[in-house]
Amino acid sequence: MAAVTGPEIERLIQLLARVPGLGPRSARRAALHLVKKREALLKPLADAMQIAHERIITCTTCGNIDTQNPCTLCGDPRRDDSLIVVVADVADLWALERAQVTTGRYHVLGGVLSALDGVGPKDLAIESLIQRIATGTIREVILALNATVDGQTTAHYITELLSTYTLTVTRLAHGVPVGGELDYLDEGTLHAAIRQRTAV
Ligand code: ZN
Repeated sequence: MAAVTGPEIERLIQLLARVPGLGPRSARRAALHLVKKREALLKPLADAMQIAHERIITCTTCGNIDTQNPCTLCGDPRRDDSLIVVVADVADLWALERAQVTTGRYHVLGGVLSALDGVGPKDLAIESLIQRIATGTIREVILALNATVDGQTTAHYITELLSTYTLTVTRLAHGVPVGGELDYLDEGTLHAAIRQRTAV
């Protein structure tokens, strides 16, 4: 197939196509949009990417991604030092922060235990979680992990590890999503919803 553009713009399209959520078609459309809005969008985006590339680091306390270490969340004095929310991935942390559901601190594991993918406890930030808990200021650990087999295996493993400490370990409720219709839910979700029912 004959190239429509030169190799430079083709390269931009190919790189954009590797972004999650963008396929080759959307990448082509995005690239064309960027090129058309060269000053208003392409230039600021290129600058933002350059800064991100130079300055982004992983917080050595919680594992969040930021341009400062400790990260913005770890450095915020208004947050609750007695609560740690454990998540698998930075994306989960950002999702919880967007929803503003907790004022606690976070801990990013960097994945979940998986026999299939060969991910063991040493591959996750579990040791550093224990170190944070050993300081004695933590009263509650919320395990905000996915409701998948691997997510729940990881939650169970960490719960066992923390059983020697005097703190409350909680996990997210499983059940009917907000706005969800019972008729459409799978059996596993319905079972969990009944099991974790609450008094009204
Ligand atoms: Zn942090």
